[in-house]
Amino acid sequence: ESVVLEAEGVSKHFPVRRGARALLGGERRAVHAVDDVSLRLRRGSVTALVGESGSGKSTVARLLAQLHPATAGEIRLDGRPVRAGRGRAFRAYCRHVQLIFQDPFASLNPVHTVRYHLTRALRIHGRAGSGAAELEKALAALLERVQLTPASRYLDAFPHELSGGQRQRVAIARAMAADPRVLLADEPVSMLDVSIRLGVLNLLRDLKERLDLAILYITHDIASARYFADETLVMYAGRMVEGGDSETVTQRPAHPYTRLLLASAPDPDRVTGSSGDGGTGEGGEGGGDPADPSASEPPSLISPPDGCRFHPRCPLAMERCRDRTPPRFDLDGGQWAACWLYDTSPDVPAPGDARTA
Ligand code: ATP
Ligand code: SF4
Ligand code: MG
Repeated sequence: ESVVLEAEGVSKHFPVRRGARALLGGERRAVHAVDDVSLRLRRGSVTALVGESGSGKSTVARLLAQLHPATAGEIRLDGRPVRAGRGRAFRAYCRHVQLIFQDPFASLNPVHTVRYHLTRALRIHGRAGSGAAELEKALAALLERVQLTPASRYLDAFPHELSGGQRQRVAIARAMAADPRVLLADEPVSMLDVSIRLGVLNLLRDLKERLDLAILYITHDIASARYFADETLVMYAGRMVEGGDSETVTQRPAHPYTRLLLASAPDPDRVTGSSGDGGTGEGGEGGGDPADPSASEPPSLISPPDGCRFHPRCPLAMERCRDRTPPRFDLDGGQWAACWLYDTSPDVPAPGDARTA
């Protein structure tokens, strides 16, 4: 199988601080940031993780990158469960699974040059070679890989001397210094100018193809997932609600939340930065209308709704949606949705139903 990185039933609950707990009536409570999430990242494939702000996307990335310990569940690289610690296997895991962030400015140290950042990363991963000539060659190769050429033009630059797109390319080069197998890209283009987003996404796609990388592409923008990702996963309030190949999920969404997300998605031309030729401008500015039902608040993750977490906002909610969490139901072509609408089994009484024979 081509699965490189796999998460199964992974949860992350952040305890609520004591001060805040007092406000909540003194109860011991936790933010259920991620609940029972499973996913697989494949070699040479981009998987998009889509969801609105606060749905738990970055927490998933940080769990996969081992920046947080999971509250429950298991993460496996090549089928082997990862255990945090100082062992060799853990170091290898951290080398193979690299994370890049939304804001390349914040992730690069302003007082250091590109050369410093990349040299340090190469050294940490034992890939700096021996001697100055080999190091110079490795640095040039890294910059070439992210299409910053000639290297001499960038190596001695400081972060503030580069454009946003160039900075993100340096951050990607730094991640590539580890020679990783998995790249977790947390909103890698959302802070960049629309006009240069496409270039950075195309670079990631090029890396995926040339190096057989597995990429997790985190975004709140489902239209870009369709353009860029092979598979798309949708998250809502800490849970995974739908998945499948990107074409299917974006053209024939199954979960009511995915439909809502698509209905309120901005014009795809704006996302990819290609201006297209269509738009006469008519009605084109409607995205993000506060009157849109999708603009209503996502639920609190301190006491998330019982049952399907989407039920308070779902136009199709049924009785059982209120108290029973929907499992994944498989649909055609590898698509699945965690929604009771797709339950084809004969009606089974809910546990605790008084009429149970
Ligand atoms: P965005 O699109 O805004 O980046 P996201 O989908 O990445 O959102 P997360 O950052 O994963 O969402 O946050 C999910 C939930 O977990 C939020 O309610 C957030 O407040 C909470 N959370 C995240 N990190 C912590 C932390 N270290 N301590 C406590 N709560 C946290
Ligand atoms: Fe709506 Fe019920 Fe499906 Fe949840 S399980 S999305 S509430 S129909
Ligand atoms: Mg985030």
